[in-house]
Amino acid sequence: MERKQFELNDVVQMKKPHPCGTNEMEIIRMGMDIRIKCTGCKHSVLIPRAKFEKNMKKVLRQAADKSEA
Ligand SMILES: [Zn+2]
Repeated sequence: MERKQFELNDVVQMKKPHPCGTNEMEIIRMGMDIRIKCTGCKHSVLIPRAKFEKNMKKVLRQAADKSEA
């Protein structure tokens, strides 16, 4: 299985959308657990890394690319 690459401040797409209808999340803290913030309603949630990797679909925007967006 390929390992997903993601870094702090990346915006990722989740497999399941947030209840507000947005499925874009920004990674705001990395550690054993990962804190992500919904870009729609600004709600943040802390989830275990393993669960995050399972639920993440893909990285939409990498932090390093943000200046070009
Ligand atoms: Zn939301």
